[in-house]
Amino acid sequence: MSDLEHTLARLREALGDAQVLTGEAISPRHFSDWTRHAPACPAALILPLDTHQVATALRICNAAGQSIVPQGGMTGLAGGAVPRAQDIALSLERLCGIEEIDLASATVTVKAGTLLQDVQQAVADAGYLFPLDLGARGSCQIGGNIATNAGGNAVIRYGMTRDLVLGLEVVLADGRVLNLMNKMIKNNCGYDLKQCFIGSEGTLGVITRAVLRLAPQPGPTTTLLCALPDYPSAVGFLRRLQRSAGTPQAYELMWQDFFRMGVSWLDNPVAPMPDHHPLYVLLESSASSEMLEQTLQNAMDAGEVVDAVIAGSQSQARNLWKIREATAEFPVRLAPLNFDISLPIGQIGEFADLCRRRLDQRWPGNHSLYFGHIGDSNLHLTVDLNSLPQPSPVFEVEDLVYRAVGELGGAVSAEHGIGLLKREFLHHSVSHEALEVMAQLKRSFDPNGILNSGKILG
Ligand SMILES: Cc1cc2nc3c(=O)[nH]c(=O)nc-3n(C[C@H](O)[C@H](O)[C@H](O)COP(=O)(O)OP(=O)(O)OC[C@H]3O[C@@H](n4cnc5c(N)ncnc54)[C@H](O)[C@@H]3O)c2cc1C
Repeated sequence: MSDLEHTLARLREALGDAQVLTGEAISPRHFSDWTRHAPACPAALILPLDTHQVATALRICNAAGQSIVPQGGMTGLAGGAVPRAQDIALSLERLCGIEEIDLASATVTVKAGTLLQDVQQAVADAGYLFPLDLGARGSCQIGGNIATNAGGNAVIRYGMTRDLVLGLEVVLADGRVLNLMNKMIKNNCGYDLKQCFIGSEGTLGVITRAVLRLAPQPGPTTTLLCALPDYPSAVGFLRRLQRSAGTPQAYELMWQDFFRMGVSWLDNPVAPMPDHHPLYVLLESSASSEMLEQTLQNAMDAGEVVDAVIAGSQSQARNLWKIREATAEFPVRLAPLNFDISLPIGQIGEFADLCRRRLDQRWPGNHSLYFGHIGDSNLHLTVDLNSLPQPSPVFEVEDLVYRAVGELGGAVSAEHGIGLLKREFLHHSVSHEALEVMAQLKRSFDPNGILNSGKILG
């Protein structure tokens, strides 16, 4: 019997045959994440039913030095859940369900395999909001959201996943169960260990349960599209809004070429305002309409806003959003190389100019698009590989962009994580010393290196 066969026999004995799949019994959706990067059928797929089974499986694999890849909903965009042929994939999909909604604490306690959308719905039914929201809500799991410290649509108002997690239960590589479940906002009892696992992409432990923080449901919102003369005005207008009308629910900046392209892809391609302005912002606010109109007037008097459209109905609001949602068409209409980066808010405009200039110098006639959630310091940049010489110089483009990010003190990953795809560029944002400490942390949590080996640090 090989080592692997021996380990699988022990896993079957401990978890039951139905929880240990091999070969054709493994669905191809466990071969790669949303990126479709380097798909591989893992040596086995285990589907534990509870924390105890996760702990047992890890104890067996750790003793055998068998590598494990934790898998959530497989919607990741960094290759973090992609297995190699020699790995055992550990899916949390059977460890799902809502355990408790505590109305007094305004918390929900969930198992890690619960879909984000199911948490949102259960909490909404109880009269609360779970503010984490992203396009993959129907497929991604809370455990995956926590392991990637997901961002999404409401970060400007409610923060990243990290800001919404109060407690965690984590199984360590050696099978010990770390109970860090907590409902208190204030709790300064030593090191806040849960923070080590949030955003660790399955390399330090397997998240099995979580206590999440809830918010009151927001009132109705107003949607506005505003044209801006330059980048400093975009920041000035955001700060003015925050001072007078409160932090908006969304503040989505689009550079002129993104705006023009988004309009041209509409079913009825008529721009809601002239398309010659350098920048456009789509924003949503729950402030009263009087307050919003007054703030807008003040911004126009100050020259921060040069044109504006306020959606008068839900359908008008939806039409404005369709311009921003042109990104959903990227995979069909472009050959997109997408970047998810962050920079200090004041320098995002400078970065976009620098990056565009360098790309144009290197590949005249290339097509790059800039847009982002600038209130979260998050910029998205897409380069259309069809506009570059073939075969596409993907690594060279990535290197150019991430080098510029590093020069301006930004982060090569804003919200999607490092996984496999950004490992080689991490050094642009993280110092040598910090990388060493990360490696030390990894060794202390997972001395045998069985958890998601090769991800983040290589
Ligand atoms: C259409 C679409 C829109 C998206 N929008 C956003 C967005 O706006 N913001 C954003 O941040 N992301 C976004 N994403 C990326 C993705 O949805 C998130 O990264 C999500 O948090 C991943 O969750 P998952 O359950 O699919 O995790 P997976 O892809 O399965 O895994 C992601 C990582 O987490 C690890 N992991 C998973 N579960 C656990 C666990 N229980 N314990 C330990 N480690 C675990 C895996 O090993 C892997 O490293 C989007 C993706 C798609 C497809």
